[in-house]
Amino acid sequence: MRTSFLFDHPSPCRECGKAAVKRTTTEWFMRDEEKPPYTGNLIVLKEQQRRRILWDGETYIQRYGYFCSLNCTSAYANKMVSTFER
Ligand SMILES: [Zn+2]
Repeated sequence: MRTSFLFDHPSPCRECGKAAVKRTTTEWFMRDEEKPPYTGNLIVLKEQQRRRILWDGETYIQRYGYFCSLNCTSAYANKMVSTFER
């Protein structure tokens, strides 16, 4: 079951307000010297010794649906139960 949601903006966690993070992909290389210059159409966010972090410039992700963490999902769910089951 897919629990992460994708957004076209940094959608805030509904519990704590933390913004969704950029959905990135990482390229790994055996040696830094073997890393070819990037020629694709993604944005290079970071170049580190043996890896390159890429972003499409528009996709953000919250790992747990509308929430940043399982703690936030359960906190929100418990508030809902308290609100609606009184
Ligand atoms: Zn949160």
